[in-house]
Amino acid sequence: MPELPAHWKRLDSDPPLDLPLEVTCDTCGRTGSFWVSRARFTAWSQRRMPMQEAFAHLSGPDREFIKSRTCPSCWTDTFGPNPYA
Ligand SMILES: [Zn+2]
Repeated sequence: MPELPAHWKRLDSDPPLDLPLEVTCDTCGRTGSFWVSRARFTAWSQRRMPMQEAFAHLSGPDREFIKSRTCPSCWTDTFGPNPYA
C-alpha cells in the first residue's frame, strides 16, 4: 500500500483518500503509487473536475504522471526541466 504524503493534512471538507492508484510509466516501466479520493478520481476521469482540484494533495509532477503516464524523471528527459519543480 502506498504511503500518504507526509505533508498532507486532512481537512474536514476534504473527501477521504480511499483509492490506492498504481501508475506505470509508459517510457521506463517505473511504477508509482498514490492515494487519491475515489469520488474525485471518478469525477476527473469523467471530465467533471479539473485535475488540480481532484488531486490537490499531489505535486505537479505526480499529477502529470497520473495523467500522461510519464514519470517525473522521464518527463524531464523528454521535455527538459520540469516546469512544476
Ligand atoms: Zn519513466
